[in-house]
Amino acid sequence: MKVLIVGAGIAGPTVAFWLNKAGHEVTLVEHSPVLRSGGYLIDFWGAGFDVAEKMGIVPQLRRRGYVMTEARAVNREGRRVASFKPEVIMESVERYLSLARSDLSAVIYEALGGDAELILGDTVQDLTDDVDRVRVTFQGGSTRDFDLVIGADGLHSRVRKLAFGPDECFERYLGMVVAAFEADQYPERDELVAMMYADVGFQAIRLSLRENATLFLFTLRHDGDVPADRTAQENLLRTKLGDKGWEVPAMLDLMTPAKNFYFDAVSQIRMPSWTRGQVALVGDAAACPSFLAGQGSALAMVEAYTLATELATTGDHRSAFARYQERLAPLLHSKQDAAVGLGLAFAPKNRFQLLARNTVMRMMGLPKVAGIVMGRSFHDAVELPPFPITDSAS
Ligand SMILES: Cc1cc2nc3c(=O)[nH]c(=O)nc-3n(C[C@H](O)[C@H](O)[C@H](O)COP(=O)(O)OP(=O)(O)OC[C@H]3O[C@@H](n4cnc5c(N)ncnc54)[C@H](O)[C@@H]3O)c2cc1C
Repeated sequence: MKVLIVGAGIAGPTVAFWLNKAGHEVTLVEHSPVLRSGGYLIDFWGAGFDVAEKMGIVPQLRRRGYVMTEARAVNREGRRVASFKPEVIMESVERYLSLARSDLSAVIYEALGGDAELILGDTVQDLTDDVDRVRVTFQGGSTRDFDLVIGADGLHSRVRKLAFGPDECFERYLGMVVAAFEADQYPERDELVAMMYADVGFQAIRLSLRENATLFLFTLRHDGDVPADRTAQENLLRTKLGDKGWEVPAMLDLMTPAKNFYFDAVSQIRMPSWTRGQVALVGDAAACPSFLAGQGSALAMVEAYTLATELATTGDHRSAFARYQERLAPLLHSKQDAAVGLGLAFAPKNRFQLLARNTVMRMMGLPKVAGIVMGRSFHDAVELPPFPITDSAS
């Protein structure tokens, strides 16, 4: 089959890798003119780690990643209020690492070994599903036919808009925005410790990276329109956080010159069906759990692997699409529900929630308590189907 995959983030290259293995002809189209580098750090673990193992990419991920030793909450004076080791949540330190989202994407893309056509700086303008093929018009002006189109173009998916309907039908805004940026030579380091400061309505996180870089991450409760341009986004952060404690004002001073500035709404995508005709969605485009889940990339890989495996197993896209949804919908729904509950940890709504967050974090430092408090929401209740075509990497 000829398959067009839209988006070369995490889900796109993963589904390309597995479809390639099954002998399909794959084209990836990515609207960014280059494959992205830098950007925010993600925790990588759970069933997505199993997919990475099947792809044989764990050694490369380890080389680029970090193993954090502590998550530490501080108060406005910078004094520790709670701390715990990440592995109390992630179950095992051997099967968990943190790395730049762009590094995960790059490693997956490298694993493809150039076996897919890559079109950069373009996207789909229009899709016409003609029952036995999808006619795709690219923004660049060309028109091509594919047997299947897979939308892996993230939270604001264009494929979803074209094939399923407008964002308003599927996007659930969680009342928060998230911002991340990097700076060089920030004086405070605390190597391999995630430093966190929360007060009512927000949380600021500082993480030290290699080469003397530092990543800052802010989560902020916000009820109005989510600003679309960078100046307005920076103004929102300054207005709401400029007078807060800890190192927040010093961090915000580094925002304007920062090279990798990320800002977005914290939203989920909830859809009754991830497929229609010959179009399927994977990753955030289909079922974004929001960054609060701490697992969107890993889940995107699980979805990509499962979709490709079902296509390779059944040989018929209709039953493969149905089985893909059937297998994963319960997992994704439970992750989304759990993520909504975690919102209070990332940006407590009031003093009571702040107190609850700090108390829970303190308890997580106690032996076995984290498993009891968080265990179910951090367990991936899914069995990955075996890929039907075996070779040394799978
Ligand atoms: C601040 C933050 C922290 C996070 N922390 C974690 C974490 O700790 N652990 C974790 O697992 N996940 C985390 N996530 C979530 C994770 O980043 C996403 O769930 C994951 O990237 C989803 O992968 P994806 O491939 O579906 O989408 P994306 O990674 O968003 O990739 C989509 C790709 O499609 C491209 N694209 C977009 N529109 C088009 C278009 N019209 N045409 C062509 N290409 C297009 C984009 O440029 C991009 O390359 C975090 C997210 C954020 C924002």
